[in-house]
Amino acid sequence: MGLIVMKFGGTSVATPELITRVARRILATKKEGNDVVVVVSAMGDATDELESMAAKISGEPAEREMAILMITGERVSAALLAIALNELGQPARAFTGWQAGIVTDSGSPLRAKIRRIEATRIREALREGSVAVVTGYQGVTEDGDETALGRGGSDLSAVALACALKADACEIYTDVDGVYTTNPRLVKDARKIRAISYEEMLELASMGAQVMQARSIEYAKKHGTVIHVRSSFSEAPGTVIREADTAMEAVVVRGIAYDMTEAKITVRGVTDRPGVAATLFNRMAQAGINVDMIVQNVSEDGITDLSFTVTRPDLKKAMDSCLLIQRDIGAREIVADEEIAKISLVGIGMRSHTGVAAKMFDTLACHGINIEMISTSEIKISCIVREAQAETAVKALHTTFALDREGDEY
Ligand code: ADP
Ligand code: ASP
Ligand code: MG
Repeated sequence: MGLIVMKFGGTSVATPELITRVARRILATKKEGNDVVVVVSAMGDATDELESMAAKISGEPAEREMAILMITGERVSAALLAIALNELGQPARAFTGWQAGIVTDSGSPLRAKIRRIEATRIREALREGSVAVVTGYQGVTEDGDETALGRGGSDLSAVALACALKADACEIYTDVDGVYTTNPRLVKDARKIRAISYEEMLELASMGAQVMQARSIEYAKKHGTVIHVRSSFSEAPGTVIREADTAMEAVVVRGIAYDMTEAKITVRGVTDRPGVAATLFNRMAQAGINVDMIVQNVSEDGITDLSFTVTRPDLKKAMDSCLLIQRDIGAREIVADEEIAKISLVGIGMRSHTGVAAKMFDTLACHGINIEMISTSEIKISCIVREAQAETAVKALHTTFALDREGDEY
C-alpha cells in the first residue's frame, strides 16, 4: 500500500477499448489500497500524425506552435482515461501538464527541461480519493507558455512526478514486458533483463533503444528513482532500472542498441591545416546542429577527408551550412549519406574486461560487414555500418556475446 505512479504508452491506450482496459488495471491497483497517479501518452501514433499534419503546411514551423500542437494528443487520452475510470465508478480527475504544476524552462519549447513540480492539485485529488490522470510529455514555462518534453517524454513526466510525490513505485507500462538484451521485435532470441543499471539503460536509450526515453533515465539516476518497466498486457514481472551493484558489473555486454536515425556527411579533399575542423564544427554549432561521431582520415599530400554524423532531420540544414563554408575550408566535395546505422554494445562490465571491441570487429568482419566509423566510451562501443546490414550485425553480435543464453539475470 502506498503511492504508485503508473505510466501507459501510446500502444496501451491506442483505442477506446484499450483505454477501458487500462482503466480496469488502474482500478485493481487502487483497490489494493494504493493512491494512484497515472501518466498517459497520446493514443497510438497520434503524435506522429500531428507532426506530419504540420509538415504538410510548413517546412520549418515555429517550435512554440509545434509544442502546442504536439502535446494535444496526450490531452485526448488523459481525458478519455479519466472518463473511463469514472464510468467504472472510480472517481478520477484529468490534469494537463500545467494544471499538474509541471514547470519547465523556456529554452527549447519542444525539448523543455523540467524545473520543478508544484503538485498541489494532484495531492488534492488524491486526498479526495480520486485517481489523478496527468497528460504526459508536457509542462508550462514560468511565463505560461506550454512546452513539450522531447519525443518519448511521457516517461520523463512519470519519473519526475514519482520523484516529486516521493512515490513508492514508478511503473512504466508498455507493449513489451520489460527491457530486453536488444529489441525483441528484431531479434526473437532477445532475453528480458531482470535488473539494469541507470548507466546502462541511459546508454542503450541514447543509442536508440526506444523502450525508455534517455532523458527520463538521466532524471531517475540524478534523483535515485527506481523504475519498473513492464507490460500493459500481462502481469509478468518486468525490468527494474536502478543503481548498479556488483553482480551487474560481472556482465560484460548487457545489451545491444541500434539507431537508424542518423546520416553521415563526408567533406572530401580538404587541406590538412589547423582551423579547418574548428571552422566546420563552429558552423554546425551556430546552426544548432548536434554532431555525433567524427572521423578524420590520415592525410595524403596534405589533403584529407572528414566525416561526421548528424540526425536525419538535421541533414538538410547541416548540408546547407557545409556548402556555405565549402570555399573557406577548401573542400573539393561534400557528400550526404542517409543509409547508415549505428550499432552499439553497452555494459558496465566493459570497465573491467578487455577484448570486447576486438570481438565486435571480428564478428562484423566474419559477416562481411564493413565498419565506417567507431566511437567508444567507458561502457559502450559503437560502429557505423551500412543500414542494409544492420539487422545481420545486431543478430550476429547478439549471438557472439551470448546474450541469447541463460545467464545470471534471467
Ligand atoms: P510506449 O509507447 O509504451 O512508450 P515505445 O514504442 O516508446 O512504447 O517503446 C517500446 C518499444 O521499444 C517496443 O515495442 C520495442 O520494439 C522497442 N525496443 C527497442 N529496444 C528495446 C529493448 N532493448 N527492450 C525492449 N524494447 C525495445
Ligand atoms: N506522445 C509523445 C511521443 O510520441 C510522448 C510519448 O509518447 O512519450 O513522443
Ligand atoms: Mg515511449
